[in-house]
Amino acid sequence: MMLLALLLGLCIGSFLNVVVWRLPRGESVVWPGSHCPRCGHDLPWTNNIPVLSWVLLRGQCQFCHGPISVQYPLIELLSGGLWVLLAQPGVGRFGPLDPFPNLLAGGLLLSLLLPLALIDLRTMRLPEPLCRWGVISGLALSALAGWWLGLGTELLLWHSVAAATGLLIFEGISGLGEKLLGAPALGLGDAKLAALLGAWLGLQGLAVACAVAVVLGAAFGLTGRLSGLLGPKQPFPFGPFLAVGGLLSWLACDALWALLINPGPMGF
Ligand SMILES: [Zn+2]
Repeated sequence: MMLLALLLGLCIGSFLNVVVWRLPRGESVVWPGSHCPRCGHDLPWTNNIPVLSWVLLRGQCQFCHGPISVQYPLIELLSGGLWVLLAQPGVGRFGPLDPFPNLLAGGLLLSLLLPLALIDLRTMRLPEPLCRWGVISGLALSALAGWWLGLGTELLLWHSVAAATGLLIFEGISGLGEKLLGAPALGLGDAKLAALLGAWLGLQGLAVACAVAVVLGAAFGLTGRLSGLLGPKQPFPFGPFLAVGGLLSWLACDALWALLINPGPMGF
């Protein structure tokens, strides 16, 4: 199971590289087949083996010898490693599903969050179609899992409430920030990403994801300001923190929730 998860994660990581490159450019993610972004040459399947091809080609295009970013194998390794975590028992927010469908559900969530985080990092935008399909798939799987586990529509109901809550709270914060600061504190893309997280994680999972995102975002903002890497009013994307929070919530919601309501003697 772990080996299967690793291999699936590596291959899907390879596809996510294509998504991250093409989606912000408005290109199709399925057509044409993979080609070198530098010389445009079609790449044979032997150049598309995750991680291995990059190592064997020593990070160069076989045809134009232009450099291939180390980001490609790194994303593949990250995806592979996270799929192994997703295959651990007790992970997931759709109830006690069988391990394999639960792994596939987690893998789909990761395949939405990873490109969203990377595209937001690079462009400060969260592509609308990816958020929309994220909400739809989260609600569809809630309905399916609820039916499969004999819970009726209860799971779908609560995940729908969570999606609406995420959207409205983040739109509220965005509007309030605009009134108080004169500039949007949060983009509307963040509200759509919060709706996605609600659809996948439910209310408790959404709360955990947002708490993690706020803590990580505040820590990043503070260290950025203090170290001078971030200017006084320089904005930075919040989507990556929401994505990390969402993934951690899928992986370990109960443990993080316990930490949230009972922070311990340190008061953290
Ligand atoms: Zn090339």
